[in-house]
Amino acid sequence: MSEQDLMPGWSVELLHDDFRQCLKEATLLYDSETDHQRLRVFRNPTFGRILTLEGAVQVTEGDEFIYHEMMAHVPILAHGAAKRVLVIGGGDGGMAREALRHAGVERVVMVEIDAGVIEFSKRYLPGIGAGCFDDARLEVVISDGADYVKTTDETFDVIIVDSTDPVGPGVTLFTDTFYGHARSRLTEGGILVTQNGVPFLQGGELTGTMRAFKALFRDWTCYLATIPTYVGGPMAMGWGTDGAARDTPLETLVARFAEAGIATRYYTPAVHKAAFALPGYVAKLMP
Ligand code: SAM
Repeated sequence: MSEQDLMPGWSVELLHDDFRQCLKEATLLYDSETDHQRLRVFRNPTFGRILTLEGAVQVTEGDEFIYHEMMAHVPILAHGAAKRVLVIGGGDGGMAREALRHAGVERVVMVEIDAGVIEFSKRYLPGIGAGCFDDARLEVVISDGADYVKTTDETFDVIIVDSTDPVGPGVTLFTDTFYGHARSRLTEGGILVTQNGVPFLQGGELTGTMRAFKALFRDWTCYLATIPTYVGGPMAMGWGTDGAARDTPLETLVARFAEAGIATRYYTPAVHKAAFALPGYVAKLMP
C-alpha cells in the first residue's frame, strides 16, 4: 500500500516507523518514477509547491530558505575566501542558488545522480533554482556523488552534501569511504558540510557521520536549524574541517556578511554562531 492509498488527497511520509507527517495535496502536479526514484510534485496551501522523493519531503517553496541558507552561508562565510564549491545532490537548485549569490564564488559543480530531479524542478519549482542553472559559473554533472569524489582531480574550498536520507541512491553518501574521498577533495582549510537528518528521530545517522568525521578532521561537529517540513525538531548539519573556520569571530562574520550584500530570511551571523551550540540530547549523540 503506497503512502497515497493511506489518506487520499494527502501525502503521507513513511520515513519514520511510528511518526507520520501528512501534507494536504491541493493540486497534484507530477507523479512518476525517474531512473532512480519516485518523484512527486504537489501544491500544499501552507508550504506551496513540494517535491517528494520516495514519499519523503525534499524541498518546499515555503521553508526551503532555512535549509539552503544555513547549508550554504555558514561554511562559505566561515571560510571567508571560498572560490570553488561542490554541491553533491541538490538537484532542485536551491543550494547552488545560495552559493552563487557570493560574488567571490567562481565555480560551483553540482553532482546530482538523477537528471529527472533537475528537469522537474526546473519545470515545476523554478523559483527554487531561481535561474542558477543559467549561471555560467555552474557546472552540472549527472553522476553518483560517491564516484565523483573518488575519480575527480578537482579540489574545492567548500563541499556541501545536499542528499536524500540514507535510502536508495543516497546510501553511498553516508559511508566512511565517501567521507574519506570527499575530504581528499578539499583544499587546505576546506570545509565539508552534510545533511544529517533530524537527530531526535534519526540520531544514528548523525552519530555514524560524526564517528567518521572524528577520524578524518581536526575540527568536527554539527550545527542545527529547524525546517518545519523536516519534522521532528532541529535538523543537524555535519561540519568537518582541518582549518579554524569555526572560530571565526562574530565581528568578522558580520563584516563578511555585510560585504557579501546578500539579503537572507533566516541566516544571520549571530544565528550562524548560535547554531553550533548543541542541546544535551544532540551532544549525547556525538562520539
Ligand atoms: N534537502 C533535502 C533533504 O534534506 O532531504 C535533499 C534535497 S536534494 C533534492 C536531494 C538530492 O540528492 C536528490 O535530488 C537525489 O537524487 C540526490 N542524490 C541522492 N543520492 C545521490 C548520490 N549518490 N549522488 C548524487 N546525488 C544523489
